[in-house]
Amino acid sequence: LLTNELTELDKKHFIHPTSSIKEQQENGPAVILKEGHGVYVTDINGKTYIEGMASLWNVNVGYGRKELAQAAKEQMEQLAFSSCFATFSNEPAIRLAAKLAEITPGDLSAVFFTSGGSESNDTAYKLVRHYWKLKGYPNKTKIISRKKAYHGVAIGATSATGIQDFQNMTTALAPEFIHADTFSADSVREIIEREGAENIAAFLAEPIQGAGGVNIPPDGYFQAIRKICDENNILFIADEVITGFGRTGKMFACEHWNVVPDVMLIAKGITSGYIPLGAVVLREKLHRDLIQLSEGTLLHGFTYSGHPTACAVALRNIQIIEEENLVENARLMGEELHKQLKMLQSELPIVGEVRSLGLIGALEIVKNKQTNERFEKKLAPIIIHEARQRGLILRTVTFGDADTIVFSPPLVINKQEIEKMFQILRDSIIAVMNDE
Ligand code: PLP
Repeated sequence: LLTNELTELDKKHFIHPTSSIKEQQENGPAVILKEGHGVYVTDINGKTYIEGMASLWNVNVGYGRKELAQAAKEQMEQLAFSSCFATFSNEPAIRLAAKLAEITPGDLSAVFFTSGGSESNDTAYKLVRHYWKLKGYPNKTKIISRKKAYHGVAIGATSATGIQDFQNMTTALAPEFIHADTFSADSVREIIEREGAENIAAFLAEPIQGAGGVNIPPDGYFQAIRKICDENNILFIADEVITGFGRTGKMFACEHWNVVPDVMLIAKGITSGYIPLGAVVLREKLHRDLIQLSEGTLLHGFTYSGHPTACAVALRNIQIIEEENLVENARLMGEELHKQLKMLQSELPIVGEVRSLGLIGALEIVKNKQTNERFEKKLAPIIIHEARQRGLILRTVTFGDADTIVFSPPLVINKQEIEKMFQILRDSIIAVMNDE
């Protein structure tokens, strides 16, 4: 089909996720992608872009991996799908659960499979409440999450999310979620004091907030959180949906602060986006307690929990991450990315704060670096539009007064590609500055 035919069909029939329905209807899709290789994607007109976001922070091993296509093909031919309900199991799911137990920190060791990050979140909320109920604490139901957090779009995950715009989209949220200040252990303490530890099931946080603007915690914060949770009999859930599988220069971001959560949520990078999959990983003690205390059936399971093809792709994906030392590459290339961010900051008058850890980063567009004053009209969306014209895909965060550009390239990126990415960004910022 020709571009304009596809555009018309898209406008008529395709409701895009997280997009402006009206704008979509008026203009159709800006880019229709066709193929990808390494850090590059190409649209149906043959224009090539550096994917500076690894799509949605997830294509960690880069595009065009024939090994992953091969793993899917082999598994589909052998046993594409089978249920894991009741007593059924399959080899890829078993081997992946064991592999996740091996690579996640500490004694995280028992895995419940989902199809993505939102399902991992809602599953965790139900599981921790179920756990406390079995332990004899049916009132431990509240979950403390944080302002600027993003946990997905299922009703629980939306309620845990701390970005108001996502909550405003609908009218009734799930109860029992409380939002603490983003990096304040004191704010968590105050909430516990006010609500009572006997009513709180869990504290939930992304080690680095992604959609909220790549917010990196100060050292000491998560160590303090771990201590508070232990002292108050509150479970700590780490949402590593973005930060897992090497993104920050460690296999999991919690490792930067030597903190082991009670429950870890994963998705995205587990398959590098080649097929949908997520998981909830529990510490050994939690798993043991659940085994001891449960009676009857755990009435929670998705049709695709333990999908053999998805699990086979995940196993091969993790093998690539290990064999190609992509976690170390993320750390090393992360240093390059940070250098480039610092250079932009020193060269350009409208680049304010910059921050990054491994291959996840952000820069703030400001009118005045000293006072942090913002432009009246947000420039980040105009800059990334300009960058896209020039062959670089990036993303913005513009909630509240944020005017932020974020980065999350595939972990296979090299120094030349990072330099190219920042040259395009520099040119784009200068072009927009000259226009304003
Ligand atoms: N948790 C975090 C930290 C995320 O960034 C996301 C998605 O971006 C989710 C959960 C939701 O994952 P999904 O979109 O796969 O449902």
